[in-house]
Amino acid sequence: MKIAVIGAGVLGMSTAYILAKRGFAVSVFEKQAAPPVNASSIAGGMLAPFSEIEALPVRFVRAGLKGIEFWDEFLGGDASGILQKTGSLLIAHPEDRHMLDRFAQHLHAVSDQWEWADAQRMDALEPCIGGKFGKGLYMPLEANVNPVPALAMLTEQLVALGGQILHEDVNADNLKADTAYDWVIDCRGYVEGQDRGLRGIKGEILLLENREFTLQRPVRLMHPRYPLYIIPRPDNVFAVGASVIENSDEDDGLVFLRSAMELLSAAYSLHPSFGEAKILDMSSAVRPAYLDSLPRIKVDQDQKYIRCNGLFRHGYLLSPIMGECVANLLDKGENNADFALFSGVSHE
Ligand SMILES: Cc1cc2nc3c(=O)[nH]c(=O)nc-3n(C[C@H](O)[C@H](O)[C@H](O)COP(=O)(O)OP(=O)(O)OC[C@H]3O[C@@H](n4cnc5c(N)ncnc54)[C@H](O)[C@@H]3O)c2cc1C
Repeated sequence: MKIAVIGAGVLGMSTAYILAKRGFAVSVFEKQAAPPVNASSIAGGMLAPFSEIEALPVRFVRAGLKGIEFWDEFLGGDASGILQKTGSLLIAHPEDRHMLDRFAQHLHAVSDQWEWADAQRMDALEPCIGGKFGKGLYMPLEANVNPVPALAMLTEQLVALGGQILHEDVNADNLKADTAYDWVIDCRGYVEGQDRGLRGIKGEILLLENREFTLQRPVRLMHPRYPLYIIPRPDNVFAVGASVIENSDEDDGLVFLRSAMELLSAAYSLHPSFGEAKILDMSSAVRPAYLDSLPRIKVDQDQKYIRCNGLFRHGYLLSPIMGECVANLLDKGENNADFALFSGVSHE
């Protein structure tokens, strides 16, 4: 079967790769030149089903862990330098400590795959910050991927499997009518007016270089408005993100001064050495989200058209699982066990 995938973000690329691996002939259409700049390329790449428990219902945790397994297998583990499987740490400044305690209660109700880290453990986990924070929540099963090399690897592997990427701005209706393709999988992310109920949520992220500081794993700082995180990347670079700005169509890639100040002061509050850090980049993108902020797979059997969208903050965590659902449907004509997660129907 010949499949057209629209969009070379993490969802389009992981779906295309999974389909190509199962023997489908896959063409990805991407409107931007290579490499595209999109929500996927600037993302933090956190694979954090537990830390996201307040944004992602508990029924997604198992799927999220399977998402981590996908990246582990696909990238070849920590050795790739693209995946870090060192868990993650949640901390809070004294004035926000109540948020950390409340979060622990929430976690306690859904999982035992986390632990309180006391001062000694914090020091062992993150010597650069342990002493200052004294207490944190450690999530050993969480991981994170470096988005740009991970997307490059998906592209390379897709091409190695006979797939292709065509840089064209396509119209989904024209593709549906094109008899060259048996199915069209629409993974366009946020496009204004594309899908009723889909809203845009702007996210901003900074890249800082700090040679005086090290982290072994992503660290999240509880914050009254949105969770802030600092992710270690190679060469003493730290990604600091990410703002959450509702109902935004403004896909200009720019960052608001207020957000920049918040993100920079979060980094500085973590360690004073960030005062001398260099700002390498500031960027933004619009994340796609439905009203309940949960992703959907919508299947139109008559038109042989599948729309996958709404990954909000969980593109890296859940794209491979959505890709598997689509591949199973096309391959075996059946919905796999995870399919219901993306139906838009709550089961809780
Ligand atoms: C600052 C920030 C931090 C984030 N951090 C994380 C994180 O830590 N962990 C996590 O899991 N997720 C994170 N996310 C969320 C994640 O990035 C998104 O959920 C994910 O990128 C959505 O992927 P997508 O493939 O659906 O869309 P996109 O990445 O937006 O890709 C869609 C692609 O479709 C193309 N396209 C659109 N229209 C057409 C057309 N007509 N023809 C051809 N091509 C077209 C676009 O050019 C684009 O390349 C973050 C997002 C942001 C913005």
